[in-house]
Amino acid sequence: MPHYSGTIQSKLPRVGTTIFTVMSRLAAEHGAINLSQGFPDFDCAPELRALFTKYINAGLNQYPPMAGVPVLREAVAEKAHALYGTEYDVEHEVTIVPGATYAIYTAIAAMVRPGDEVILLEPAYDSYAPSVEVNGGTPVYVQLTYPDYAIPWEAVRQAITPRTRMIVINTPNNPTASVFSAEDLRMLEGVLEGTDIVVIADEVYEHIVFDGHAHQSVARFPGLAERSFVVSSFGKTYHVTGWKTGYVLAPRELMTEFRKVHQFNVFVANGPIQYALAEYMKDKDAYLNLAAFYQRKRDFFLAAIAGSRFTPLRSRGTFFQNLNYDRVSDERDTDLAVRLTREHGIASIPVSVFYREPPQHRVLRFCFAKSEETLSKGAEILSRI
Ligand code: PMP
Ligand code: GLN
Repeated sequence: MPHYSGTIQSKLPRVGTTIFTVMSRLAAEHGAINLSQGFPDFDCAPELRALFTKYINAGLNQYPPMAGVPVLREAVAEKAHALYGTEYDVEHEVTIVPGATYAIYTAIAAMVRPGDEVILLEPAYDSYAPSVEVNGGTPVYVQLTYPDYAIPWEAVRQAITPRTRMIVINTPNNPTASVFSAEDLRMLEGVLEGTDIVVIADEVYEHIVFDGHAHQSVARFPGLAERSFVVSSFGKTYHVTGWKTGYVLAPRELMTEFRKVHQFNVFVANGPIQYALAEYMKDKDAYLNLAAFYQRKRDFFLAAIAGSRFTPLRSRGTFFQNLNYDRVSDERDTDLAVRLTREHGIASIPVSVFYREPPQHRVLRFCFAKSEETLSKGAEILSRI
């Protein structure tokens, strides 16, 4: 095996393997019920699979256009207009990308210069800070309150300095399962008014908001839409996390810079998948019914663990349910997550890893994008602990 004997000054010295990989691997090793990494254990619609093979068999197997195939960009722009009331120009303001992680990275690479500050709300999805740091930026953290994970807007206001280039928001939120209200978005609009600060709005769970509430996309708010990259992922919406395909909406000025990086970062997203998604998007019910689908799963899981000593925190969106374990153990969540996997056969995600400094609260995140059988088995284990 070749061996590099030079010196490496890592650009990401504190980064190891992601918690999702670690916990999913541990779950597999121990044959545990895996409610850790967020992915469905059921398949996507057979129609969607058939569409993918249809376009492969039709020979659409060469590079698609850099910004994405026009039919898919049109479908995405139409959906954004119908749901959020904002028009995005198909030619210049919609780009199809290989997943939301990629989109967030590329938007940061396009906008953030060394020394720039990027405000992140903690707990923050794990890819944000490394994407900022590898591009020379400095993450500036504002902590959501506990246990309701509300946004302390005054603290956000105070975190802004002349170096602030960007704020990354995520609603519905992973890992907290909270969602921003319209009032939150109006607050953000007010806080950013008169600045050049750009927003990345990670809205990958846009179609998974519960209890009759509407998703509050930044696209609905003119003062935010004009400064935002709106990021979404087909992986969450259509149960195809492995397809790694998503999209970005942004005003032309921002998208021009995004595409300059995009064309040299990957150039294009997978072609035949894009044609398949465009055709599948004609069936609006598939995304309009998704919230009800996952709300049933959330409620099924909550009912099944009702007798356990874990205390559910409110899950308002996403496919995650956080459980407080004050009544179970005083271990650190990272230790408990490992022990539950090894000794009890159930894997979860310790929420403290999404903070720079582990907080005092004791919370584990459980993914309920699973069959009822898996959820029942998981709940049975939790009820015995
Ligand atoms: N953002 C959040 C908040 C997520 O939960 C995920 C994936 N689970 C992503 C981004 C990444 O999405 P993709 O797989 O499309 O890269
Ligand atoms: N976003 C998924 C989660 O929160 C995991 C994605 C990944 O493994 N990178 O569980």
